[in-house]
Amino acid sequence: MSAHEATKPIAEGLFTWPSEHPALLGSRCGDCGRVAFPAQASCAACCSTDVEMEELPRQGTLWTWTVQRFMPKSPYNSGETQETFQPYGVGYVELPGAIRVEGRLTESDPEKLAIGMDMEVVFYPYRSEEDGTEIINFAFSPV
Ligand SMILES: [Zn+2]
Repeated sequence: MSAHEATKPIAEGLFTWPSEHPALLGSRCGDCGRVAFPAQASCAACCSTDVEMEELPRQGTLWTWTVQRFMPKSPYNSGETQETFQPYGVGYVELPGAIRVEGRLTESDPEKLAIGMDMEVVFYPYRSEEDGTEIINFAFSPV
């Protein structure tokens, strides 16, 4: 087994992993129907603890976005340095069900990003740990 076969998600419970069709995991309130991401143990709207995990839709529309031109501080830093840092897009994608999810975008060219455009969630190796385990994160990519 090569070192690169090992992968793990950046945070437990954030999305289904490993999975043939990975999806973000949200929580839906059984009382008021509110969906939250990341999943919460109780509803932020009505305080109900009758919440269930569910897979979120993979596609949505870009609600707003910006380009991050400054290197993020740990723990959001993926191992880049001032020399290797590349600006990246970050935005909110509105998924069906009126839930907005913040995430990195695979596109950082402002000419190629527009509010309302179709986006889909993708999963990619974010960084590697010392033992070779690849840490998987999610991002949104133009469809
Ligand atoms: Zn609720």
